[in-house]
Parts: sequence; structure tokens; C-alpha cells
Amino acid sequence: MTVEFISVGTEILLGNIVNTNAAYLSERCAALGLSCYHQSVVGDNEERLEETIRLALSRSDILILSGGLGPTKDDLTKEVTAKVFGKKLYEDAHTKERIQEYFQQMHSGQVTPNNWKQAMVPEGAKVVDNHNGTAPGLILEENDKIAILLPGPPNEIKPMFEEDIAPYLNQLEPEGIFSKMVKICSIGESKAETMITDLMDTQTNPTIAPYAKTGEVHLRVTAKAADEEAAEDLITPVIEELFRRFGDKIYTTEEEVTLEESIVNLLDEKGMTMTTAESCTGGLLAGRIMNVPGASGVYREGYITYSNDAKERLLGVKRETLMQYGAVSQQTACEMARGVAAAAGADAALSVTGIAGPGGGTEEKPVGLVYVGCYVKGHVRVEEFYFTGNRDKNREYAVARALTLLREELLKN
Ligand code: ATP
Repeated sequence: MTVEFISVGTEILLGNIVNTNAAYLSERCAALGLSCYHQSVVGDNEERLEETIRLALSRSDILILSGGLGPTKDDLTKEVTAKVFGKKLYEDAHTKERIQEYFQQMHSGQVTPNNWKQAMVPEGAKVVDNHNGTAPGLILEENDKIAILLPGPPNEIKPMFEEDIAPYLNQLEPEGIFSKMVKICSIGESKAETMITDLMDTQTNPTIAPYAKTGEVHLRVTAKAADEEAAEDLITPVIEELFRRFGDKIYTTEEEVTLEESIVNLLDEKGMTMTTAESCTGGLLAGRIMNVPGASGVYREGYITYSNDAKERLLGVKRETLMQYGAVSQQTACEMARGVAAAAGADAALSVTGIAGPGGGTEEKPVGLVYVGCYVKGHVRVEEFYFTGNRDKNREYAVARALTLLREELLKN
């Protein structure tokens, strides 16, 4: 089945808010195995909204509209969709009660009269309770076409989608959609994709869809099957083939497991500890490690050494090294990694020193030049990177590369 999204709101057209709902719905519907070929954004204008809905209905099976379900006059999504489906609106007692209760819970005093507009529901529509706001979700079904109306605020649309809409979409197809995520590091997106082009071109069930993440590649393997066991039978050989091709570059096949978590687990299994010395990433790397619950078992202390003085004083980087090669150099990264491992008494250490930008670059050492040092039990490996993003991206990439490097060295050990 095909699905199409319509995001309603003039503020999206003006760029006042970013259309994160479209990204969220796209990702979720793809995971549910629905094909999406069109998406649009339309302002709070009756005529244009009607035109957009009619066009979408002419080419897609399911429409998901987000936004414009509010209490004000310019919230038109429900009224216009009902008109297109030829349905009248009536006051739904259950929704009215829920709005009343919501106001009581929020201690918001009297319900303002325009809020009762949200209790008006198109004839025949399924009402989906909103546990985080007053606008209910609505599902209209007519002549093999479906319109799903969802509230705009992300904190309302997401729980509603997860709890009610995803199960509803799932039961529309007699077969269920099941997927596994294969997460890969130490390889670029285009290289990874060329390694599986043949699989992607020939597989129809399961399908393989790549997603590029900062410094990682994720492959979602999705199967349509009668039940989970049958899906597993379809997915397992594909995952085995991916393991044959990517080997230990695959760090997990679990949706929730992050790269940092896999590293913390690896250190834990080996009974090792780690530490970090960061310059341009200023704690971002340590923060990633500390995102992992239980990281304290492997990480006890780390350092942010932004200045040369701090690198010397806290990590024992030699003044001559800093003078001769500079703070952003292979030699400094190496001494930082050794120094921090000694200072923290850790088995493994990562150091990062670089020029995140926008200023500070020279011809010889441009913005984006980053050295990452990785110490594991006496041995240091330093890698040089030239990132081409802005300050934030360069720092994120440096962290991702540092984590990948540590994982590679731990696997060798
Ligand atoms: P409510 O449930 O509050 O009545 P609504 O369904 O009428 O909301 P809108 O009034 O269109 O939704 O949008 C409310 C807010 O939701 C916006 O100000 C914005 O913060 C957020 N929002 C709306 N659409 C989107 C979108 N496509 N992506 C991200 N956020 C959005």
C-alpha cells in the first residue's frame, strides 16, 4: 500500500518550524513496509488544502495529515478532509468529555468555547484518543482510501502514532512487517552500499535499506511475513550474508544498541577500563560514553585539555612536542593518549585534538583537520582526518571516528 503525508501549517511553509513530523512519519512508515512516493506541505488555506488532499487521494491509498487540528479558526484539516470525504461533522460526546477532563487535569480552568471545536468529528470516523493534548486523532475510511488526521505537536503525534496508528496500519496488510537493524562502523556509506548493491537490487522480501548516520551506516532488513517466526526465517540468511561481507565491522543487530554501548560492553567483557583526553571535542566524546547506563564500570575519569598548558600539566605532553609540531599534530595526539592513560590508570584511552572551525585554520592545517589517538595496553595508534563540515559536524565526526578507532583496537587486542 502507498502512503502520502501532508503537513499542514503556514509556519512550516515560512520556515518558522522545521518539519520534523514528516521525517518521523517517513521513517516509521518505511519501517512498517509502506511505500511513500509523495509528501507535501500546505499552509492554513482552505482551497489549497482541499486541492492537496484531492491530489493525494488520486494517487495514494493512505493519507496521513499532521497539524491543523487545533481550536482556532485557521485550523482547517478536519473540516476540509470531511468535506472531501463528503462527511458532516457532529459533536462526539466521548471526545467532549476527554477535553473537559484534560482541562481539569491541567488545572487550566474553564474550557474556552473554541475548544469545543475539537470535539467535532466527521461522521463514521474512528476517534483516536490524544493522551497528551486536546485534539483527537481521526481515521476516515471510504472507497478503499484512508485519511489519518494527527495533531501537529511532536509530543502528541509520536505517542499517538506508536500506540494506535502503527498497530492500525499493521493490520491493514494481512502480513505483518518485521525488521532488524544491522549497524556498521569503520566503513563509509558509499563503500558499504557498493558492497551490497547486488543484494539491494535483487531482494524483494526481505528488503535492505541503508541509512547513513554520522560515522556509521545502518542497514534495515525488513520482511513481510505472516508472523515473527516466518519473518525470522526470511531475515536470518540475509543477516548472515551481511556478516560474511562486513565481518566484525557490524557492531550490533539490535535496534537500541549504540556504538558507545557496544564499546562499553566490549571493555566490560575484557575487564578493561578506558579514559579520554579531549581538546576540540570538549567533553562530547566522554558524554557519548556516559550516555550508556553502567558506563561507570569502565570509565572513571577523563580530561578536557583545551590549552597547551593543560595538555602539558595534566597529560604530560612535552613542551618541545607542542612547540615543534603544534597542538594539532600526530605527535601531540599520541602523547595525549599515552599521558591520559597513565594519569587515569586506564587500560585504554582516546585523545582528540583538531581544528573544529570556523576560525583557526591555516593552509597547512585547515579547519576540519583532526587527530585521534587510541591507546590500548601500551600501544598507540593515531589517525589523521580531514572533515569538511561546520564546527558542530566536525566535532561529531571526530567523536564517531574516535569511538570506531577504539573498537577496532579493542577487537585486535
Ligand atoms: P494542537 O493539538 O495543539 O491543537 P494542531 O494539530 O492544531 O495542534 P498545529 O497548530 O498545526 O497543530 O501545530 C501546533 C504545533 O505543533 C506547532 O506550533 C509546532 O510546534 C508543532 N508542529 C506542527 N506541525 C509540525 C511538523 N510538521 N513538524 C514539527 N512540528 C510541528
